[in-house]
Amino acid sequence: MRALVYGGPGLREWTEVPDPQILHPTDVIVRVETTTICGSDLHILKGDVPSVEPGRVLGHEGVGTVIEAGSGVSSVAAGDRVIISCMTACGSCSYCRTGMYAHCLADEGVPGLGWALGHVIDGTQAELVRVPFADFSLHKIPEGVSDEAAVMLSDILPTGFEIGVRYGRVKPGDVVAVVGAGPVGLAAMMTAGLQGAARVVAVDLDANRRAQALGFGATDAVDAGASDWEAQVRSMTDGLGVDVAIEAVGIPATFTACTKIVRAGGTIANVGVHGAPVELALQDLWIHDIAITTGLVSTSTTPMLLNLVARRVLDVEKFATHRFAFDEFMDAYDTFGRAADTQALKVIVAR
Ligand code: NAD
Ligand code: ZN
Repeated sequence: MRALVYGGPGLREWTEVPDPQILHPTDVIVRVETTTICGSDLHILKGDVPSVEPGRVLGHEGVGTVIEAGSGVSSVAAGDRVIISCMTACGSCSYCRTGMYAHCLADEGVPGLGWALGHVIDGTQAELVRVPFADFSLHKIPEGVSDEAAVMLSDILPTGFEIGVRYGRVKPGDVVAVVGAGPVGLAAMMTAGLQGAARVVAVDLDANRRAQALGFGATDAVDAGASDWEAQVRSMTDGLGVDVAIEAVGIPATFTACTKIVRAGGTIANVGVHGAPVELALQDLWIHDIAITTGLVSTSTTPMLLNLVARRVLDVEKFATHRFAFDEFMDAYDTFGRAADTQALKVIVAR
């Protein structure tokens, strides 16, 4: 089969590799029909994620058809259309039993699963992929949900909702600021309304991303580069600051930005993946009763979100801005890697 193989920092190739095989009775092989690229894949290519070894097939998002199921798989069978979750979970360890699939303890030759695909085992940017513990790592796709919609449920939609909106404890009437209007920030904006947010303020440096945010549930957009950006956000509240500030970039400046706009008693939900130390002004924050949350998505809300997508409550197809065939994978990376120029949100790579 062909797959997108990581060759070390800066190196990637769409190339021939051996077909994956069932290794354990709980594995399935999925024929990938639609996949996409995540900001984390770009981090890997920069060499920021040393746990990814050269030779690894990248990708942790995908939709396809099961072509072979191990003897221990009971919830899916050959022929089923499925979403491949970015989290691989055994379903029975102590973390899985509380729904924290991100911290699954199962040992697959590598200690701990969770984010395994395209990280410590071969991933979804391939014609075929082996998915371990298929019963807990795949979701059957209901009739009427397109591949392009379904693939948004592998990672970005649950991430924005679980780590942004839910951990941020968004409640009815809240003013929520989302710093960073990339796919993950937009997913948080789109799902903040599910918990009753009254106002959702997108904060980004990029004018195109700010404009797009207004189509994804943001009620207002503020230029993070404006000298009075903080006052602008505050003016959209009762003057005291936002109830919830969601960090969806992953750099020190945006975490600090969240600390500046959150009200006393509010919550900062950090979603961004940080590669550098971030200063925490605890000496200023403690007296304001600020809660800070962090997390890696568990995808425990994927079935609920899939229901909302199937019933057209959430229109996630609009995340897809560019489309490529599998043999155009290198171009897809190039377009996604230059998102500021190409205005890409999610690039769809399909058969
Ligand atoms: P992205 O790079 O597409 O979007 C980031 C956005 O931030 C862009 O629109 C950019 O213009 C904006 N931005 C950059 N600097 C800014 C600044 N100083 N002020 C305001 N806005 C600024 O990223 P994405 O794919 O949407 O992902 C967002 C973050 O979420 C990344 O760090 C990613 O690694 C992380 N992530 C976390 C999890 C998790 O489980 N916690 C899962 C998936 C992704
Ligand atoms: Zn587990």
